[in-house]
Amino acid sequence: MSEIEREAMEYDVVIVGAGPAGLSAAIRLKQNDPDLEVVVLEKGSEVGAHILSGAVLDPCGLDKLIPDWKEKGAPLNTPVKEDNFYMLGEGGEIRVPNWPMPPLMNNHGNYIVSMGNVCRWMAEQAEALGVEIFPGMACSELVYGAGGEVKGVVAGVFGLEEDGSYGPNTEPGMELHGKYVFLSEGVRGSLAKEVIAKYDLQKGHQPQKFGLGMKEIWEIDPAKHKEGTVTHTMGWPLGSNAGGGSFIYHLENNQVYVGFVVHLNYKNPHLYPYMEFQRFKHHPMVAELLKGGKRVAYGARAISEGGFQSMPKMVAPGVALLGCSVGMVNVPRIKGNHNAMLSGIAAADAAAAALKDGRAADELSAYEEEVRKGAIGKDLKKVRNVKPMWSKWGLLPSLALGGLDMWTNTLGFSLFGTMGHGKTDAQATEPADKHKKIDYPKPDGKLSFDRLTNVSFAMTNHEESQPCHLRLKDASVPVSVNLPKYDEPAQRYCPAGVYEVVEEEGKEPRFVINFQNCVHCKTCDIKDPSQNINWVTPQGGDGPNYPNM
Ligand SMILES: Cc1cc2nc3c(=O)[nH]c(=O)nc-3n(C[C@H](O)[C@H](O)[C@H](O)COP(=O)(O)OP(=O)(O)OC[C@H]3O[C@@H](n4cnc5c(N)ncnc54)[C@H](O)[C@@H]3O)c2cc1C
Repeated sequence: MSEIEREAMEYDVVIVGAGPAGLSAAIRLKQNDPDLEVVVLEKGSEVGAHILSGAVLDPCGLDKLIPDWKEKGAPLNTPVKEDNFYMLGEGGEIRVPNWPMPPLMNNHGNYIVSMGNVCRWMAEQAEALGVEIFPGMACSELVYGAGGEVKGVVAGVFGLEEDGSYGPNTEPGMELHGKYVFLSEGVRGSLAKEVIAKYDLQKGHQPQKFGLGMKEIWEIDPAKHKEGTVTHTMGWPLGSNAGGGSFIYHLENNQVYVGFVVHLNYKNPHLYPYMEFQRFKHHPMVAELLKGGKRVAYGARAISEGGFQSMPKMVAPGVALLGCSVGMVNVPRIKGNHNAMLSGIAAADAAAAALKDGRAADELSAYEEEVRKGAIGKDLKKVRNVKPMWSKWGLLPSLALGGLDMWTNTLGFSLFGTMGHGKTDAQATEPADKHKKIDYPKPDGKLSFDRLTNVSFAMTNHEESQPCHLRLKDASVPVSVNLPKYDEPAQRYCPAGVYEVVEEEGKEPRFVINFQNCVHCKTCDIKDPSQNINWVTPQGGDGPNYPNM
């Protein structure tokens, strides 16, 4: 690729990804110095198209960034009014009272929002300050300077040939150079992954951990809709097969976000996260709520779960990692948007100060210091043992001990120190013959749906003629290793039905990648036990088109 000639544009700061982290950074840079040249590049067809976070938003990040967000019309319309937590069994549920929960679990003062819409609004605020935002521009490569520093990105390569080569119709894109480059690609960013490996940024930190989050938007019977209600559940149907749980958020217009998270450190390769989600909706409590309603959207995205001890070093020469490219989700709260925003603010402050001093392309160590010691670090430190406890001891002991640990951490100490996570999620997968197959009921087409029907509600689209963006390091591994050893779990862990093993009589099994279905959740890159799948960004504009997820 190095022989390709491209035009280059020069900026003070180049920001990859228009999520809450990248947009907060852009806004804050301009607030610091209106003369700074700032560009944001987004692979979605529009800002918000790839944002999957029908969310409960803690507004602390927005309060700091735009204190008058209410007057400016930010789409935070649904304050949380009621918080419920249930343990589910197959046929019933037990309500866990709110009083033993540590104060950090309380959703009072938070809002049920469409983060896609919040990002669209933030983009308007950024543009009003003079930030250039280019949606439909995937950043596919990093550009390095002579001293090994990150100097910029390549964005906007379109029309590659099917085999990945440049052809007569290929637009080579352009280089965008920045004195600093911010990677705010969200969880398992493809450029962030390269930077973490190149500069060995994970060294000395625990491995990052992940969950797979799947979500549907439902329009339900107005009589059952209770705007502002937040419900979380744990237990059935996952039981001891995997960690995880559900969320049900009642937003405006009789709509409900119904979501399900499966921790990706599950051992049994027969587990089928998507089908666990579908089965969950048949629980009597959930089925009763959804009966008579209709599912209007579907999507999926990995969520970072490693927390405080898994955050890699987040700066290297010329580059800083922001938001969930670092992994800033507070797992028991299932919240990361506030920290993504706070990280954008901190990175922008550090870069603006450095630029003012005439610096460029060095390490923004003031940013990292603020993340670890400031509000983000404090938020994540209190809950750092919840995930390792769950992985080690299972749901019920970790609920009790995790609750105790969160309480003592609120008072400033922990009886457990900082627990480690152990293996990566890929390494956690065990051979198929050590585990039982799981029998999943067939979707009924009313409450539960087959995967491909649901994927059509993500409105995902990829040019058929472009190269597959799910690159196998060794094309033989799925059939020669993963199939005999793990019953090729890609067939099940992918929430979009991208991967199939086709077995025809008299023929060798074939591994098929239907990349057109991909919803950019990145689970394959994380969970493949052979670490043989590399998710690279497809051309800009491709991927899901979430309405108000
Ligand atoms: C199912 C689920 C439910 C959640 N619920 C909540 C909740 O209720 N409350 C909460 O606070 N948090 C929640 N989270 C966590 C929250 O979504 C993340 O913490 C947050 O999105 C992180 O923001 P970010 O800006 O770092 O990344 P993202 O929001 O992921 O934004 C990254 C952006 O970068 C773009 N991008 C990526 N790579 C490239 C590239 N190479 N070139 C160009 N563009 C690129 C993407 O398209 C995307 O628009 C949830 C997460 C999931 C998966």
